[in-house]
Amino acid sequence: MFQGIVINKDDAGYHAALQSIDEASLPAGDVTIRVQYSTLNYKDGLAITGKGPVVRKFPMVPGIDLVGQVEASAHADYAVGDTVVLNGWGVGEGHWGGLAQMARLKGDWLVPLPSAFTPRQAMAIGTAGYTAMLCVMALERHGVTPDNGDIVVTGAAGGVGSVAVALLAKLGYRVVAVSGRASEADYLKSLGAVEVMDRAELASPGKPLARERWAGAVDVVGSHVLANVCAQMRYDGVVAACGLAGGADLPATVMPFILRGVTLAGVDSVMCPRPRRLEAWQRLARDLEIDRLETISTEIGLSEAIPVAAQLLEGKVRGRVIVDVNR
Ligand code: NDP
Repeated sequence: MFQGIVINKDDAGYHAALQSIDEASLPAGDVTIRVQYSTLNYKDGLAITGKGPVVRKFPMVPGIDLVGQVEASAHADYAVGDTVVLNGWGVGEGHWGGLAQMARLKGDWLVPLPSAFTPRQAMAIGTAGYTAMLCVMALERHGVTPDNGDIVVTGAAGGVGSVAVALLAKLGYRVVAVSGRASEADYLKSLGAVEVMDRAELASPGKPLARERWAGAVDVVGSHVLANVCAQMRYDGVVAACGLAGGADLPATVMPFILRGVTLAGVDSVMCPRPRRLEAWQRLARDLEIDRLETISTEIGLSEAIPVAAQLLEGKVRGRVIVDVNR
Protein backbone atom coordinates (compact mmCIF):
# COMPACT_ATOMS: atom_id res chain seq x y z
CA MET A 1 0.00 0.00 0.00
CA PHE A 2 1.13 3.59 -0.61
CA GLN A 3 -0.27 7.07 0.03
CA GLY A 4 -1.70 9.19 -2.78
CA ILE A 5 -4.35 11.75 -3.64
CA VAL A 6 -7.34 10.22 -5.39
CA ILE A 7 -10.02 12.18 -7.24
CA ASN A 8 -13.47 10.67 -7.59
CA LYS A 9 -16.59 12.11 -9.19
CA ASP A 10 -20.22 11.43 -8.38
CA ASP A 11 -23.54 13.25 -8.69
CA ALA A 12 -22.47 15.67 -5.94
CA GLY A 13 -19.30 16.64 -7.84
CA TYR A 14 -15.55 16.12 -7.42
CA HIS A 15 -13.95 14.69 -4.28
CA ALA A 16 -10.20 14.71 -3.78
CA ALA A 17 -8.80 12.88 -0.76
CA LEU A 18 -5.48 11.58 0.52
CA GLN A 19 -5.80 7.82 0.93
CA SER A 20 -4.00 4.48 0.93
CA ILE A 21 -3.78 2.86 -2.50
CA ASP A 22 -3.06 -0.79 -3.25
CA GLU A 23 0.04 -1.20 -5.44
CA ALA A 24 -1.91 -3.79 -7.45
CA SER A 25 -4.19 -1.04 -8.74
CA LEU A 26 -1.40 0.98 -10.41
CA PRO A 27 -2.11 1.45 -14.14
CA ALA A 28 -0.27 -0.37 -16.92
CA GLY A 29 3.22 0.84 -17.84
CA ASP A 30 6.74 -0.43 -18.33
CA VAL A 31 8.45 1.59 -15.58
CA THR A 32 7.44 1.60 -11.91
CA ILE A 33 8.69 4.59 -9.93
CA ARG A 34 9.06 5.33 -6.23
CA VAL A 35 8.14 9.01 -6.29
CA GLN A 36 10.25 11.49 -4.30
CA TYR A 37 8.66 14.82 -5.21
CA SER A 38 5.79 16.12 -7.30
CA THR A 39 4.56 19.70 -7.75
CA LEU A 40 1.43 21.79 -8.02
CA ASN A 41 0.80 23.47 -11.36
CA TYR A 42 -2.28 25.43 -12.43
CA LYS A 43 -3.58 22.29 -14.16
CA ASP A 44 -3.23 20.27 -10.95
CA GLY A 45 -5.28 22.97 -9.25
CA LEU A 46 -8.00 22.56 -11.88
CA ALA A 47 -7.91 18.76 -11.49
CA ILE A 48 -8.02 18.69 -7.68
CA THR A 49 -10.73 21.33 -7.29
CA GLY A 50 -12.75 20.17 -10.32
CA LYS A 51 -12.86 23.79 -11.57
CA GLY A 52 -11.75 22.75 -15.06
CA PRO A 53 -12.43 19.61 -17.11
CA VAL A 54 -8.89 18.29 -16.79
CA VAL A 55 -9.48 14.77 -15.46
CA ARG A 56 -10.69 12.39 -18.14
CA LYS A 57 -10.99 9.15 -16.10
CA PHE A 58 -12.02 8.37 -12.52
CA PRO A 59 -10.68 7.46 -10.05
CA MET A 60 -7.61 9.58 -10.91
CA VAL A 61 -4.37 10.30 -9.10
CA PRO A 62 -3.50 13.90 -10.10
CA GLY A 63 0.00 15.31 -10.57
CA ILE A 64 1.38 16.24 -14.00
CA ASP A 65 4.98 16.23 -12.70
CA LEU A 66 7.10 13.79 -10.75
CA VAL A 67 10.67 12.84 -10.00
CA GLY A 68 11.65 9.54 -8.47
CA GLN A 69 13.68 6.37 -8.62
CA VAL A 70 12.97 3.48 -10.92
CA GLU A 71 11.85 0.47 -8.90
CA ALA A 72 11.11 -1.88 -11.81
CA SER A 73 11.67 -1.43 -15.53
CA ALA A 74 10.95 -3.32 -18.73
CA HIS A 75 12.13 -0.33 -20.80
CA ALA A 76 15.54 -0.49 -22.49
CA ASP A 77 16.53 3.07 -21.46
CA TYR A 78 15.85 2.78 -17.73
CA ALA A 79 17.30 0.51 -15.04
CA VAL A 80 16.40 -0.01 -11.39
CA GLY A 81 17.79 2.89 -9.33
CA ASP A 82 17.81 5.50 -12.14
CA THR A 83 16.33 8.88 -11.23
CA VAL A 84 13.77 10.03 -13.78
CA VAL A 85 11.57 13.06 -14.43
CA LEU A 86 8.06 13.12 -15.89
CA ASN A 87 6.27 16.22 -17.21
CA GLY A 88 2.90 16.02 -18.92
CA TRP A 89 1.93 13.44 -21.59
CA GLY A 90 -1.57 13.51 -20.08
CA VAL A 91 -0.34 12.06 -16.79
CA GLY A 92 -2.56 13.28 -13.92
CA GLU A 93 -5.34 13.73 -16.51
CA GLY A 94 -5.88 10.34 -18.20
CA HIS A 95 -3.16 8.24 -16.48
CA TRP A 96 -2.39 8.17 -12.72
CA GLY A 97 0.10 10.89 -11.83
CA GLY A 98 2.72 12.13 -9.42
CA LEU A 99 0.80 13.17 -6.29
CA ALA A 100 1.37 9.74 -4.76
CA GLN A 101 4.28 7.72 -3.42
CA MET A 102 4.28 5.36 -6.43
CA ALA A 103 3.61 5.66 -10.15
CA ARG A 104 3.70 3.33 -13.14
CA LEU A 105 4.33 5.03 -16.47
CA LYS A 106 5.47 4.52 -20.06
CA GLY A 107 9.25 4.75 -20.20
CA ASP A 108 8.95 6.75 -23.44
CA TRP A 109 7.43 9.61 -21.40
CA LEU A 110 10.40 9.90 -19.05
CA VAL A 111 13.57 11.95 -19.22
CA PRO A 112 16.64 11.18 -17.10
CA LEU A 113 17.17 13.68 -14.26
CA PRO A 114 19.63 16.25 -15.67
CA SER A 115 22.89 16.05 -13.71
CA ALA A 116 22.74 19.80 -12.99
CA PHE A 117 19.72 19.38 -10.72
CA THR A 118 18.80 17.52 -7.54
CA PRO A 119 15.41 15.76 -7.66
CA ARG A 120 13.94 18.57 -5.54
CA GLN A 121 15.33 21.26 -7.87
CA ALA A 122 13.86 19.45 -10.89
CA MET A 123 10.44 19.78 -9.27
CA ALA A 124 11.06 23.43 -8.31
CA ILE A 125 11.21 23.80 -12.10
CA GLY A 126 8.49 21.26 -12.99
CA THR A 127 6.10 21.65 -15.90
CA ALA A 128 5.75 25.39 -15.27
CA GLY A 129 9.49 25.99 -15.46
CA TYR A 130 9.99 23.70 -18.42
CA THR A 131 7.14 25.54 -20.19
CA ALA A 132 8.79 28.87 -19.42
CA MET A 133 11.91 27.51 -21.15
CA LEU A 134 9.80 26.39 -24.15
CA CYS A 135 8.41 29.94 -24.34
CA VAL A 136 11.93 31.43 -24.36
CA MET A 137 12.94 28.91 -27.06
CA ALA A 138 9.87 29.93 -29.10
CA LEU A 139 10.91 33.61 -28.93
CA GLU A 140 14.42 32.66 -30.03
CA ARG A 141 13.14 30.42 -32.84
CA HIS A 142 11.28 33.45 -34.22
CA GLY A 143 14.36 35.66 -34.09
CA VAL A 144 13.97 37.63 -30.84
CA THR A 145 17.29 38.70 -29.26
CA PRO A 146 18.07 40.99 -26.30
CA ASP A 147 18.93 43.80 -28.76
CA ASN A 148 15.39 43.83 -30.18
CA GLY A 149 13.85 45.51 -27.12
CA ASP A 150 11.82 44.85 -23.97
CA ILE A 151 10.11 41.54 -23.18
CA VAL A 152 6.85 41.51 -21.23
CA VAL A 153 5.94 38.53 -18.99
CA THR A 154 2.34 38.27 -17.72
CA GLY A 155 1.17 36.38 -14.63
CA ALA A 156 4.73 37.02 -13.57
CA ALA A 157 4.47 36.06 -9.90
CA GLY A 158 3.06 32.60 -10.77
CA GLY A 159 5.05 29.47 -11.65
CA VAL A 160 5.59 29.90 -15.41
CA GLY A 161 5.97 33.66 -15.02
CA SER A 162 8.60 33.52 -12.26
CA VAL A 163 10.83 31.11 -14.17
CA ALA A 164 10.35 33.07 -17.42
CA VAL A 165 11.44 36.31 -15.71
CA ALA A 166 14.51 34.63 -14.19
CA LEU A 167 15.51 32.94 -17.48
CA LEU A 168 15.05 36.01 -19.68
CA ALA A 169 16.92 38.29 -17.26
CA LYS A 170 19.84 35.85 -17.10
CA LEU A 171 19.91 35.73 -20.93
CA GLY A 172 20.33 39.52 -21.02
CA TYR A 173 16.80 40.62 -21.87
CA ARG A 174 15.20 43.72 -20.32
CA VAL A 175 12.14 42.17 -18.68
CA VAL A 176 8.94 43.96 -17.67
CA ALA A 177 6.89 41.79 -15.29
CA VAL A 178 3.10 42.15 -15.26
CA SER A 179 1.42 41.20 -11.99
CA GLY A 180 -1.88 41.71 -10.23
CA ARG A 181 -0.03 41.66 -6.91
CA ALA A 182 1.80 44.90 -6.06
CA SER A 183 3.13 43.10 -2.97
CA GLU A 184 5.28 40.88 -5.25
CA ALA A 185 7.15 43.77 -6.92
CA ASP A 186 10.34 43.27 -4.84
CA TYR A 187 10.21 39.51 -5.49
CA LEU A 188 9.93 40.07 -9.25
CA LYS A 189 12.81 42.56 -9.22
CA SER A 190 14.90 40.07 -7.25
CA LEU A 191 14.36 37.63 -10.14
CA GLY A 192 15.65 40.22 -12.61
CA ALA A 193 12.63 42.25 -13.77
CA VAL A 194 13.60 45.87 -14.45
CA GLU A 195 10.02 47.10 -14.11
CA VAL A 196 6.78 45.77 -12.68
CA MET A 197 3.53 46.74 -14.38
CA ASP A 198 0.07 46.52 -12.83
CA ARG A 199 -2.06 43.85 -14.48
CA ALA A 200 -5.00 46.29 -14.41
CA GLU A 201 -3.33 48.23 -17.27
CA LEU A 202 -3.93 45.22 -19.55
CA ALA A 203 -7.02 43.56 -18.10
CA SER A 204 -9.82 45.59 -19.79
CA PRO A 205 -10.84 45.66 -23.46
CA GLY A 206 -8.31 47.80 -25.37
CA LYS A 207 -7.67 49.20 -28.86
CA PRO A 208 -6.81 46.92 -31.80
CA LEU A 209 -3.41 48.66 -32.00
CA ALA A 210 -1.65 50.55 -29.23
CA ARG A 211 1.74 52.21 -28.73
CA GLU A 212 4.51 49.80 -29.76
CA ARG A 213 6.27 48.57 -26.62
CA TRP A 214 7.40 44.96 -26.70
CA ALA A 215 9.85 43.01 -28.86
CA GLY A 216 8.68 39.79 -27.23
CA ALA A 217 6.11 38.50 -24.77
CA VAL A 218 5.46 35.44 -22.63
CA ASP A 219 1.76 35.27 -21.81
CA VAL A 220 0.19 32.86 -19.32
CA VAL A 221 -3.08 34.78 -18.91
CA GLY A 222 -4.97 34.83 -22.24
CA SER A 223 -8.18 36.85 -22.76
CA HIS A 224 -7.93 40.69 -22.67
CA VAL A 225 -4.38 40.60 -21.31
CA LEU A 226 -3.16 38.62 -24.33
CA ALA A 227 -5.21 40.79 -26.73
CA ASN A 228 -3.68 43.97 -25.28
CA VAL A 229 -0.17 42.49 -25.34
CA CYS A 230 -0.64 41.69 -29.05
CA ALA A 231 -1.85 45.26 -29.67
CA GLN A 232 1.29 46.65 -27.96
CA MET A 233 3.82 44.53 -29.86
CA ARG A 234 6.52 46.28 -31.87
CA TYR A 235 6.95 45.60 -35.56
CA ASP A 236 7.98 41.91 -36.07
CA GLY A 237 7.40 41.20 -32.36
CA VAL A 238 6.77 37.67 -31.09
CA VAL A 239 4.28 36.54 -28.45
CA ALA A 240 4.71 33.10 -26.85
CA ALA A 241 1.23 32.19 -25.56
CA CYS A 242 0.95 29.25 -23.16
CA GLY A 243 -1.80 29.90 -20.63
CA LEU A 244 -5.36 30.78 -19.74
CA ALA A 245 -5.16 31.93 -16.09
CA GLY A 246 -7.35 34.91 -17.00
CA GLY A 247 -9.56 33.16 -19.56
CA ALA A 248 -9.45 30.92 -22.62
CA ASP A 249 -10.95 33.58 -24.92
CA LEU A 250 -8.94 35.86 -27.17
CA PRO A 251 -10.92 39.05 -27.85
CA ALA A 252 -8.42 40.48 -30.36
CA THR A 253 -8.31 41.73 -33.95
CA VAL A 254 -5.95 40.68 -36.74
CA MET A 255 -4.43 44.20 -36.86
CA PRO A 256 -1.18 43.48 -34.98
CA PHE A 257 -0.56 40.50 -37.27
CA ILE A 258 -1.34 42.09 -40.62
CA LEU A 259 -0.01 45.63 -39.96
CA ARG A 260 3.00 44.92 -37.71
CA GLY A 261 3.98 41.40 -38.72
CA VAL A 262 3.48 40.17 -35.17
CA THR A 263 3.84 36.41 -34.59
CA LEU A 264 1.62 34.58 -32.11
CA ALA A 265 3.56 31.45 -31.18
CA GLY A 266 1.60 28.80 -29.30
CA VAL A 267 3.48 26.78 -26.69
CA ASP A 268 2.42 23.31 -25.51
CA SER A 269 4.36 21.31 -22.96
CA VAL A 270 2.11 18.26 -22.71
CA MET A 271 2.67 16.57 -26.08
CA CYS A 272 5.93 18.41 -26.84
CA PRO A 273 8.18 15.97 -28.75
CA ARG A 274 10.99 14.34 -26.79
CA PRO A 275 13.94 16.04 -28.59
CA ARG A 276 12.57 19.49 -27.74
CA ARG A 277 11.94 18.41 -24.12
CA LEU A 278 15.51 17.22 -23.78
CA GLU A 279 16.71 20.48 -25.31
CA ALA A 280 14.54 22.47 -22.88
CA TRP A 281 15.98 20.60 -19.87
CA GLN A 282 19.54 21.11 -21.19
CA ARG A 283 18.85 24.80 -21.64
CA LEU A 284 17.41 25.04 -18.10
CA ALA A 285 20.63 23.49 -16.78
CA ARG A 286 22.59 26.17 -18.65
CA ASP A 287 20.40 29.27 -18.44
CA LEU A 288 18.68 29.15 -15.05
CA GLU A 289 20.60 30.34 -12.01
CA ILE A 290 20.15 27.47 -9.57
CA ASP A 291 20.09 29.85 -6.58
CA ARG A 292 16.92 31.38 -7.99
CA LEU A 293 15.06 28.11 -7.39
CA GLU A 294 15.05 28.62 -3.61
CA THR A 295 13.55 32.11 -4.07
CA ILE A 296 10.95 30.84 -6.52
CA SER A 297 9.75 27.72 -4.69
CA THR A 298 8.07 26.62 -1.48
CA GLU A 299 7.72 23.04 -0.27
CA ILE A 300 4.65 21.35 1.16
CA GLY A 301 3.77 17.79 2.19
CA LEU A 302 1.31 15.58 0.31
CA SER A 303 -1.34 16.16 2.98
CA GLU A 304 -1.28 19.93 2.23
CA ALA A 305 -1.66 19.60 -1.55
CA ILE A 306 -5.48 19.72 -1.60
CA PRO A 307 -5.91 23.06 0.24
CA VAL A 308 -2.91 24.64 -1.51
CA ALA A 309 -4.35 23.64 -4.93
CA ALA A 310 -7.39 25.81 -4.18
CA GLN A 311 -5.17 28.75 -3.13
CA LEU A 312 -3.17 28.40 -6.35
CA LEU A 313 -6.29 28.78 -8.49
CA GLU A 314 -7.17 31.92 -6.51
CA GLY A 315 -3.84 33.44 -7.61
CA LYS A 316 -2.56 33.48 -4.01
CA VAL A 317 0.49 31.27 -4.44
CA ARG A 318 3.85 32.77 -5.39
CA GLY A 319 6.18 30.97 -7.77
CA ARG A 320 6.40 27.19 -7.66
CA VAL A 321 5.12 24.62 -5.18
CA ILE A 322 7.18 21.47 -4.59
CA VAL A 323 5.30 18.54 -3.02
CA ASP A 324 7.25 16.08 -0.86
CA VAL A 325 5.04 13.03 -1.34
CA ASN A 326 6.68 11.18 1.55
CA ARG A 327 5.54 13.57 4.26
P1 NDP B 1 0.12 29.89 -11.47
O1 NDP B 1 -1.19 29.82 -10.79
O2 NDP B 1 1.36 29.58 -10.73
O3 NDP B 1 0.32 31.37 -12.10
C1 NDP B 1 -0.69 32.01 -12.80
C2 NDP B 1 -0.53 33.51 -12.57
O4 NDP B 1 -1.43 34.20 -13.44
C3 NDP B 1 -0.93 33.95 -11.17
O5 NDP B 1 0.11 33.82 -10.25
C4 NDP B 1 -1.29 35.39 -11.42
O6 NDP B 1 -0.08 36.15 -11.52
C5 NDP B 1 -1.93 35.35 -12.81
N1 NDP B 1 -3.38 35.25 -12.72
C6 NDP B 1 -4.12 34.40 -11.96
N2 NDP B 1 -5.42 34.58 -12.14
C7 NDP B 1 -5.53 35.58 -13.05
C8 NDP B 1 -6.64 36.25 -13.65
N3 NDP B 1 -7.90 35.91 -13.34
N4 NDP B 1 -6.39 37.22 -14.53
C9 NDP B 1 -5.12 37.56 -14.84
N5 NDP B 1 -4.04 36.97 -14.31
C10 NDP B 1 -4.25 36.00 -13.42
O7 NDP B 1 0.00 28.98 -12.75
P2 NDP B 1 1.17 28.39 -13.69
O8 NDP B 1 2.25 29.37 -13.77
O9 NDP B 1 1.44 26.99 -13.30
O10 NDP B 1 0.39 28.35 -15.08
C11 NDP B 1 0.04 29.57 -15.72
C12 NDP B 1 -0.84 29.29 -16.92
O11 NDP B 1 -0.09 28.60 -17.90
C13 NDP B 1 -2.05 28.41 -16.62
O12 NDP B 1 -3.15 28.84 -17.39
C14 NDP B 1 -1.61 27.04 -17.06
O13 NDP B 1 -2.68 26.22 -17.40
C15 NDP B 1 -0.75 27.40 -18.26
N6 NDP B 1 0.25 26.39 -18.56
C16 NDP B 1 0.28 25.91 -19.82
C17 NDP B 1 1.19 24.99 -20.20
C18 NDP B 1 1.23 24.55 -21.61
O14 NDP B 1 1.78 23.47 -21.90
N7 NDP B 1 0.71 25.32 -22.54
C19 NDP B 1 2.13 24.40 -19.22
C20 NDP B 1 2.10 25.05 -17.92
C21 NDP B 1 1.16 26.00 -17.61
P3 NDP B 1 0.07 37.62 -10.89
O15 NDP B 1 -0.50 37.54 -9.51
O16 NDP B 1 1.53 37.89 -10.93
O17 NDP B 1 -0.72 38.53 -11.78
